[in-house]
Amino acid sequence: MALVVIDAGHGGANPGAVYGGRREKDDVLALSMEVGNILERNGVDVYYTRTSDVYESPAQKTEEANAVRGDYFVSIHRNSSPYPNQYAGVESLVYNRYGEAARLAENINARLEELGFANQGVNERKDLVVLSGSQMPAVLTEVGFINSDSDNRLFDERFNDIAKAIADGILATVWSS
Ligand SMILES: [Zn+2]
Repeated sequence: MALVVIDAGHGGANPGAVYGGRREKDDVLALSMEVGNILERNGVDVYYTRTSDVYESPAQKTEEANAVRGDYFVSIHRNSSPYPNQYAGVESLVYNRYGEAARLAENINARLEELGFANQGVNERKDLVVLSGSQMPAVLTEVGFINSDSDNRLFDERFNDIAKAIADGILATVWSS
């Protein structure tokens, strides 16, 4: 059976991006828990790097994911930009644009795009430890911009569908591997 590591970004004293009273760490924890629930209901084992409002460094989380020998690592975040409503849409980051992680990222992005998010694509980042240090295909998905009112509306109104879209993208990848 596949084991998927679900990582809610930030937490504790590290709120991530903030917009008005809205904090990235809260949005991504709620979403991560729901994504994990759906995966578990579909027979996939889930390891959560956090299930409450606590902080662990990306290096610690990566180490845990490697220790439990996850098959996939999905880190859930929300994006931000210098000015409110400057950008909108989903983006997934991977260490290597041409591998299994990119396939997973594309599966997630495509399903979120179907819900109405602009698809900002799958992009390489070499400097993120959760991507470079994970000994398994690892994706960091930015689920819309926290300083985009349209993305936040979508996030709140379609929350369950968004969780299902991410879970479906993961399941499609797990089942075809
Ligand atoms: Zn983040």
